[in-house]
Amino acid sequence: SGIFGALPPQGEDQIIRLMGQFRADPRPDKVDLGVGVYRNAQGVTPVMRAVQTAEQQLLQSQNTKAYTALAGEQAFRDAMADLVLGPAQDPARLASVATVGGTGAVFMALRLVTMARPDAQVWVSDPTWPNHIPITQHVGLGLKTYRYFDAESRAIDAAAMLADLSQVRPGDVVLLHGCCHNPTGANPQPSDWQALATLLATKGAVPLIDIAYQGFGDGLEADAAATRLIAQTCEEVLIAASCSKNFGVYRERAGVLMVMTPPQLRDTLQGTLTALNRLNYSFPPDHGARLVSMVLTDPALRADWQAELEDMRTGMLHLRETLARELRRLTGSDRFGFLAQHRGMFSRLGATPEQVEKLRADHGIYMVGDSRMNIAGLTKANVSQVAQAIAACNI
Ligand code: PMP
Repeated sequence: SGIFGALPPQGEDQIIRLMGQFRADPRPDKVDLGVGVYRNAQGVTPVMRAVQTAEQQLLQSQNTKAYTALAGEQAFRDAMADLVLGPAQDPARLASVATVGGTGAVFMALRLVTMARPDAQVWVSDPTWPNHIPITQHVGLGLKTYRYFDAESRAIDAAAMLADLSQVRPGDVVLLHGCCHNPTGANPQPSDWQALATLLATKGAVPLIDIAYQGFGDGLEADAAATRLIAQTCEEVLIAASCSKNFGVYRERAGVLMVMTPPQLRDTLQGTLTALNRLNYSFPPDHGARLVSMVLTDPALRADWQAELEDMRTGMLHLRETLARELRRLTGSDRFGFLAQHRGMFSRLGATPEQVEKLRADHGIYMVGDSRMNIAGLTKANVSQVAQAIAACNI
């Protein structure tokens, strides 16, 4: 008569299961477009050059592993505020904490909302990064979805999104992907962002911007534009930024939660965020965050990081364009043009679950069941094979 018999079984994570299937597949020409990590032309997720250099410097210079600060190092939080908010930052309005990756930042943001407004509803795009949903439910907040993706064009349906979000109550939280929407790859236009920012400000809703791919879409500055616009338009804004992808420090768990608030509430917010770190895990991880702040504040390291990130970004764009071009040639139609319009690491192909299974079983091409494909899993060598398989499946 213990307590744990009451626990429901947890379903196996879809992406983890897919990774296992891929590994067990003996076909030499199998292609992994599943798990969401960047891979280079050799299929490797590299340690970025500047991160490697910073790590060597740190090994030489770091003489203690004693605790740092409960909110995380100020230098890291300042550097991330510069990176994400740039000219839109206002120190008088900004509170922040280092978190356990971008996931930790999302979790802390929603925990903060439960303390401030336990009856807030959290609006997420349909679809969204799957983890947004259980985190919202786990912290006990109500969940709402807003229409986002147009299945026909594979672009966003901005009118439907704005119509659904016109239903928000004051104090509701609206979760937005700052750039490079996961899983669809479809993103609002600048005019849509403007309309969205105005709507949320008018309604008194609180945007929670999850920005996990800054630099993977249209460039570091362009990818932050929507976040900056919203930070300047809305009074209260939550921003969860991940360093996992754009610094390639996935396993180090580096992220930051920033809260923009009216100046008179700033100190209370800073105290509350710090207390949340304390009660959840005390000090946040330091190693990855320190590497990030070293890279961002050393001009030579920063220039090298930006150059490498830009190569990653343009490489993915090039793969998108190649795949779209191949599909135009093979199908004689423009219906895959969206692949070149999408931004970031992912595109939702719009295939049925049966077609996704056929791609796997007949062609050795692995993607997530909702037909999300990782563009970084494509290479010069496999892109025409993938195009032929997609064309053969009549998607
Ligand atoms: N948000 C989104 C939309 C993501 O895709 C990811 C990474 N899969 C994260 C947040 C969190 O990343 P991490 O916790 O690894 O920093």
